Amino acid sequence: MKKAAIIGAGIAGIATAIHLANKGYKVEVFEANNYAGGKLSEFWKDGFRYDAGPSLFTLPERVEELILQSGKKVEDYFSYKKLETINKYFWEDGTKLEASADTETFAKQVEAKLGEPKENILKFLKSSKEKYDLTADLFLTRSLHKAETYFNKTALKAFSQIWKLELFKTMNQANSLIFEKEKTVQLFNRYATYNGSSPYVAPALLNVIPHLEFNKGAFLPTEGMFDITKSLVKLGQDLGVIYHFDKKVEEIIIDKNQNKITGIKVKDSKKEETQTEELDFDIVVSNMDVVHTYKKLLPKEKAPEFLLQQQKSSSALIFYWGMNAEYKELDLHNIFFTKEYKKEFNALFNGKTLYEDPTIYIFVSSKHIKTDAPEGCENWFVMINAPHNLNDGSQDWDTWIKKAKQDIIKKLERILMRNVEENIISESILDPRKIELRTSSLGGSLYGNSSNNRYAAFLRHANFSKTKGLYFCGGSVHPGGGIPLALSSAKIVGEMIEKI
Ligand code: FAD
Repeated sequence: MKKAAIIGAGIAGIATAIHLANKGYKVEVFEANNYAGGKLSEFWKDGFRYDAGPSLFTLPERVEELILQSGKKVEDYFSYKKLETINKYFWEDGTKLEASADTETFAKQVEAKLGEPKENILKFLKSSKEKYDLTADLFLTRSLHKAETYFNKTALKAFSQIWKLELFKTMNQANSLIFEKEKTVQLFNRYATYNGSSPYVAPALLNVIPHLEFNKGAFLPTEGMFDITKSLVKLGQDLGVIYHFDKKVEEIIIDKNQNKITGIKVKDSKKEETQTEELDFDIVVSNMDVVHTYKKLLPKEKAPEFLLQQQKSSSALIFYWGMNAEYKELDLHNIFFTKEYKKEFNALFNGKTLYEDPTIYIFVSSKHIKTDAPEGCENWFVMINAPHNLNDGSQDWDTWIKKAKQDIIKKLERILMRNVEENIISESILDPRKIELRTSSLGGSLYGNSSNNRYAAFLRHANFSKTKGLYFCGGSVHPGGGIPLALSSAKIVGEMIEKI
């Protein structure tokens, strides 16, 4: 039986393991942490449960598809619900907007609260759908590094309607043309942050993202985001996948003469002094950040430096607060906008620093999952965008985090007109340094490369390499970060590797 090793139990590694098990491989996953999921993990503290990373779930069919392809029933592994309210938005001048999942209702809500003609919203969402329909199959489900991707009906259709993609406008330019009100522009510009980019630089093509939330829907797994990880690990195990936790891969072994991988060197993550173990494999798939894969696991190989040096996506600073109160003003997803959006992105991408009046995102899973917080309490996941960690000592993270906490509390108290600070009874903090340490993603970037470049889609590393038997999956390679794309990368790898 041929053997495949997966380096990392991030969501893409977990999904790749399923694809390969279904193809008849004996699959082993090596994970440096003592838990699965990488960024998509959870933790408990003081009676509160928190999803540590992702909070927004779109395209659940990508998870269902894996279960069905494995010949299993979805209901035996995974369940989720569709959200009726997608987001609540708050501005400093007291404006509040509830975004319904029903597009007609949402358009009316925007007209009533922001003064934006509802036709503009409907026109925008229609064009968002058109962009998605033209490009999704091409960019998200195939390798961009194979000629056949460009010579088929889907590609021809996209090229024949290329003007609809607004390739030569930034997201902000496109949104400023379609919308009359600054707040509407800001609301839709925020979708650039869904892959860690700036709307003032990223191409208007990223306007496909609102289509996912507003037209296709936003969802929440019944037991929280971590349920995606748990369900797919269980599915893999049922198919025979073996998980090794606390096992750090130190090197990918290559037979230079045959230009093919022959195995990996693995070490116990907890015991530095232990010897590395050499294990033979026919296939190796790295779910580790591609930059670190080359630098740490393939130090003798020639790395594709140009691709590896592309700008990284933004990172995040998160305060997980156990709140000793309930805030009826909040929903599951809540956004508190900055007054100066452009300045915020300038600080993040040019200044490489936190912004003093950041846009704040709060996710409260206990609004839907009551067991996530003690009675009368709420579990707040409070996130602001952060630059990635430069690792050069120029960023004073500890001082910045203390200041950011105070800036966030003051802003929330101003807008909610309620005390926040006195209700925080438990706290954990995640910053770019810790994200890098825990998941190995370069500088703690959330989504691999940023899309702050018109050609970004073509500047991500392919899912295969020149070395026979070596493949890449996950947010740092094609087609990019975020759960749906990480799952797509796994599917592309699965399709590239032949059945045995
Ligand atoms: P990762 O999650 O990066 O995991 C990689 C794994 O590999 C880790 O477990 C790591 O320990 C392991 N590893 C690395 N090196 C080695 C080694 N040498 N040996 C063994 N194991 C190794 N996405 C969304 O879709 N919606 C959201 O709302 C969203 N919000 C986010 C919020 C935050 C705070 C964060 C951090 C991310 C968010 N994302 C969101 C992005 C999403 O989490 C990621 O794109 C996705 O989870 C990346 O998965 P991955 O498979 O690339 O692997």
